[in-house]
Amino acid sequence: MPQLSYYCKSTSCERKNYLKVKSNNRFELQQEIGNEVKRNGFFCGTYAVTHINRLHLEIGKWVMVMTLITCVILSALLFIVGWISTVTFTIPIWFYFDQQKRANLFNKTMISRH
Ligand SMILES: [Zn+2]
Repeated sequence: MPQLSYYCKSTSCERKNYLKVKSNNRFELQQEIGNEVKRNGFFCGTYAVTHINRLHLEIGKWVMVMTLITCVILSALLFIVGWISTVTFTIPIWFYFDQQKRANLFNKTMISRH
């Protein structure tokens, strides 16, 4: 599940708020939640309207953790078999970069404001 973040509009707060969504791009997101996020800040409770163009897709920490775990497990398995290859690291890292690419694409795409 993609995790979106945006900054609190209260100048005394400006902390990151998170929002979990199903959408993988901003156009789907617009269908899912509309043009704006209307919410009270998680930390200070300041009510703010945030346009969805200001939402930023972040790769969850678990993706990084899973990548590392997969590297370790694959290495251990292949070590037992006696076959170590760069593929061991390439596959999980490729997966990680794929996630990164999706996030970048999401963040680059802006919907037009009317
Ligand atoms: Zn706040």
